[in-house]
Amino acid sequence: MKTDIHPQYAKAAIKCACGNTIEVGSTKQDISVEICSNCHPFFTGKQKLVDTAGRIERFRKKYAKFNQEK
Ligand SMILES: [Zn+2]
Repeated sequence: MKTDIHPQYAKAAIKCACGNTIEVGSTKQDISVEICSNCHPFFTGKQKLVDTAGRIERFRKKYAKFNQEK
């Protein structure tokens, strides 16, 4: 194997926004993610909405009126 042409491969910690940490081998040292297999709705089976700006709430308010008129 040639020297000095390969990136440094070391253990890296992937930190998720939910607090979960996964150890992997990577050429990057620390990786931050917003969602992982521990907290993603697909794996948890629960519906968890990531709504930071209240957009879903606004949408529901807007269409609540529409449904009443029917
Ligand atoms: Zn997570």
